[in-house]
Amino acid sequence: MASSTGTNTRLRAHTHKGAKTGSISVFSKDGTTKAGPIDPLDFYSSYARAIDLRWTLKGRPPVGISIGQHPRHMNPSNMFTISFLFAVLILHILPSSEGAAITCKIDDEEQWSYNGRTNGPSAWGERYPTCFGKQQSPIAINTKDVVIDLFAQKLQMKNYDIPVAKATIINNGHSAQVTPKDNVARTIEVDGSTYTFQQLHFHWGSRYDQGSEHTLDDVRYALEAHFVHTNKDNNIAVVGVFFQSDTHDNEAFQAISNVLPQIPFKDNSVDLQSDLILNDLLPSNPAGYYHYDGSLTTPACSEGVKWFVLKGIKQIGEKQLNELRNLYSTTKDKDYAGCQITNNYRPLQPLNGRVVIESAN
Ligand SMILES: [Zn+2]
Repeated sequence: MASSTGTNTRLRAHTHKGAKTGSISVFSKDGTTKAGPIDPLDFYSSYARAIDLRWTLKGRPPVGISIGQHPRHMNPSNMFTISFLFAVLILHILPSSEGAAITCKIDDEEQWSYNGRTNGPSAWGERYPTCFGKQQSPIAINTKDVVIDLFAQKLQMKNYDIPVAKATIINNGHSAQVTPKDNVARTIEVDGSTYTFQQLHFHWGSRYDQGSEHTLDDVRYALEAHFVHTNKDNNIAVVGVFFQSDTHDNEAFQAISNVLPQIPFKDNSVDLQSDLILNDLLPSNPAGYYHYDGSLTTPACSEGVKWFVLKGIKQIGEKQLNELRNLYSTTKDKDYAGCQITNNYRPLQPLNGRVVIESAN
């Protein structure tokens, strides 16, 4: 993540707070025992600070921890058995503890999924052969490898500033998708052809440092928005926008996050109840971008898609991300435990000789 400030540290901590609560017994030297449920975050905060650890929540905690000094303010007679504490602590906060979370039992009943054992991304091509194609998306965008095009057209979004007065949002089991119904043509020009905006959907993760489909210099952002357009020949152009997790809500996204609690299950849909201004979800207009030819990132993975991944990064509130993370991939009548839509991003696909163009603007 670009800024490794206290904000990120706080957000990572927030994620840990969402992890499962454990139950431990703590023995002190004076013979007393403390037992009961302990929130991993609270546990971390109090004890890691107390013994002056030389690392922070930035990045993954080391597997081995050497304790540099005893807590100055703790009475030695009341000292906990620190090594035991940390054995338990590490189990709680390392990502491997996520393996104990409830997994969605019915992922494999779907045609495809992100997390199923039999129908996950590596198996998509068995049912949808194009997913094994050579021009697939998403890809890793590495700025050291891109070709800068001084004459690249500016990506001008027309009518994106007109509020979407009427729009439907649906939980389609893989994402939340917004489709305008106000008959305003919002368009971009690509290679002399007009592409009209059709729908907007999102890919997000369970943590602030995962969620986006593309990566930019190895950074995976908390969310990637896809603005999907088609031209008269049904060719597809997608504008992708990265969003970084933030403590402040994104005001423009509020029209969407306000109604997410109303579409918790697959096939639920509702009209937006306030105006959505697409321009406000874009980093700038016209926007600098990375361009390449790829595919849809979900089955049937159709190729020939013109990708424009915008350079500018927007912000989205952690609270707003949590509204997305609370959506389920299943209908209400199924066993939806553990079936929250998270990490709905496809793994990176090989470039296979493709070149990524960077617009000079
Ligand atoms: Zn998408």
